Amino acid sequence: MSDLTGRFASRVFNLSTMKQRLPKDTYKEMLRCIRDGQRLDLSVANIVANAMKDWAIEQGATHFTHWFQPMTGITAEKHDGFISPNGDGGIIMEFSGKELVKGESDASSFPSGGLRSTFEARGYTAWDPTSYAFIKDTVLYIPTAFCSYGGEALDMKTPLLRSMEAIDKQATRILRLFGHSDVKAITTVGAEQEYFLVDQSMVDAREDLMLTGRTLLGAKPPKGQELDDHYYGVIKPRVQAFMKELNDELWQLGILAKTEHNEVAPAQHELAPIFTTTNISVDHNQLTMELMQKVAHRHGMVCLLHEKPFNCVNGSGKHNNWSIATDTGVNLLDPGTTPYENAQFLLFLCAVIQAVDDYQDLLRISVATPGNDHRLGANEAPPAVVSMFLGDELSDVLAAIESESDYNGRDQQQLKIGVHVLPRFPKDSTDRNRTSPFAFTGNKFEFRMPGASLSMAKPNIVINTAVAESLRQYADALEDAADFTTTMHNIIRDTVRAHKRILFNGNGYDGGWIDEAQRRGLMNLPTTPDALAHLLDAKNVALFERHGVYSAAELRSRYEILLGNYTKVIHIEAETMIDMVNRAILPAVSDFSARLCSNATAKAGYAGTACGYEKARARELCRLSDEIYTGVNVLAEAVSAADRVDGTLDRAMHYKDDVVSAMANLRAACDTAESMMPAADWPYPSYIDILFSVR
Ligand code: ADP
Ligand code: MG
Repeated sequence: MSDLTGRFASRVFNLSTMKQRLPKDTYKEMLRCIRDGQRLDLSVANIVANAMKDWAIEQGATHFTHWFQPMTGITAEKHDGFISPNGDGGIIMEFSGKELVKGESDASSFPSGGLRSTFEARGYTAWDPTSYAFIKDTVLYIPTAFCSYGGEALDMKTPLLRSMEAIDKQATRILRLFGHSDVKAITTVGAEQEYFLVDQSMVDAREDLMLTGRTLLGAKPPKGQELDDHYYGVIKPRVQAFMKELNDELWQLGILAKTEHNEVAPAQHELAPIFTTTNISVDHNQLTMELMQKVAHRHGMVCLLHEKPFNCVNGSGKHNNWSIATDTGVNLLDPGTTPYENAQFLLFLCAVIQAVDDYQDLLRISVATPGNDHRLGANEAPPAVVSMFLGDELSDVLAAIESESDYNGRDQQQLKIGVHVLPRFPKDSTDRNRTSPFAFTGNKFEFRMPGASLSMAKPNIVINTAVAESLRQYADALEDAADFTTTMHNIIRDTVRAHKRILFNGNGYDGGWIDEAQRRGLMNLPTTPDALAHLLDAKNVALFERHGVYSAAELRSRYEILLGNYTKVIHIEAETMIDMVNRAILPAVSDFSARLCSNATAKAGYAGTACGYEKARARELCRLSDEIYTGVNVLAEAVSAADRVDGTLDRAMHYKDDVVSAMANLRAACDTAESMMPAADWPYPSYIDILFSVR
């Protein structure tokens, strides 16, 4: 890869490209617009659009697209050519400022959750100049927000940008009180992405992988991840070739892909980029997921981003590393060295503690997908109960503040925030607990509940808004305070007192913790419908409305879409399973048991010949095939019954209670049958075939 520094971001219309290509005044206008989130004047937009078009055409682009993130959780695009007739039979290449900043699309088939009806289906896309345009293949991509005719957000980006604005507004109030008047607060995110790579032929041979992205059946393999020999193991040449090509593509798009390694499960890997501003990080993660799948395909593989492709094998998550910083580069979650810096750090830390406690339901909701329900609490990912890990040192400091007692780490002195210097917290000691949903890792928080396929917009909308709310309350109190230091000290002390139930440094995988959490009054929302039932709770609607992130109508539309999506996904899984069982598994089990029976009969012709295996196995398989037959009928009945239930929440609950459990019972019987059948007679590739398919 020659001249990587030259190739990096070579397909991005970023600040340095703008600086080269735009007149000085226009460039300055762009900078201002990016910093203040202001609209570009149309005359300026025309100049930018023209420069962007020339640059894109030089790079081989023929089309442009307004790239947006509808509520499906993935991205959407429609390509328009630059071509325009020149009047004498030829063409000219055109791209106007108007086309850059605003697009109109019919888009009536995107989920709107009742926000618009089809007869007024027009939607608008509006350029988000804080996320740079880029070229992929021969298309210029313009990152945009997607709204209805009436201005309601129909996407993930709009609320994310609003949440970033909300936290900026409140954080700068606090920063001003600490003497930092001309700074902007930005949130930063680094998303560690887990995924599986399997050979294409495996997916082609399995209806479940093809249609649902996960295996609905499959007996446990004799070897899975027990030996931990895959974790950080030597990367296989075929995977290495994939990673090399993927990195190159990502780097050209300015995505800071940094770390790659094998994960715990066979065929599982991880990619982590260097963190950046939240909305860019979210865009980049969407691109990363898309390119992972495309590049895998070129290498004859399939990249599975499902949260739980295989039973009995670790699923895939996506850690959301989050912090808040100033635009001058100061990380506000980095403990400082002076009393004032420490106080500021503790205040921001408390804002996060309070936010996570007050909006634990929203955090759980933000990661609620049918796939993720299989991971959370299954001893491979944090439980469905949200808690926070701070590490021993920081917990000791907070305990001392809370009880107004001596802090042992210091020389028996009462710690007064804003007056005393805190001890430095060794970073290592904050990163040992991998079982916590929300862990402080030295200078950032790591939210570990998101599943692999999730749009990172979702958790970050919640984190940003919830933290904005704590900061708002602190700023209200501090701006009016007669004695700033004492008020601040009291806020920190009172926050710890009021919210310490959310702090838990122990083992999150321990079953005892769930009981303890219940005693503490923390919410346990094991499944997606359980969680979504709380989305419209009054306090949640009030939070989003207060900070202008979602209107009540926008929130209700998310509720409808998410519940509808849950139901649809489980419905498709159930139908796929029914199809596989009826058309392949039952016939296979029946054929093989019949063969055993006829073998036993044949052997019986030779007096004294043992045929214990044939008889016993045939009996077991015949019993199992009856169990499978009953199970598939029970499942089919549960699906029809659920479809008759009215109301999106009730229907989702029925799918969860009746359909999911019927699938689990049916699966257990099928998997037992698989373990008794000759490999050649089982209609689908086994877990061994799939998990070790990439060599
Ligand atoms: P690990 O979780 O494997 O120990 P690291 O500490 O290297 O990994 O960081 C994991 C991710 O956290 C990376 O994407 C990194 O860029 C990101 N990260 C580091 N600092 C910050 C920060 N201040 N804000 C957001 N993300 C961060
Ligand atoms: Mg991590």
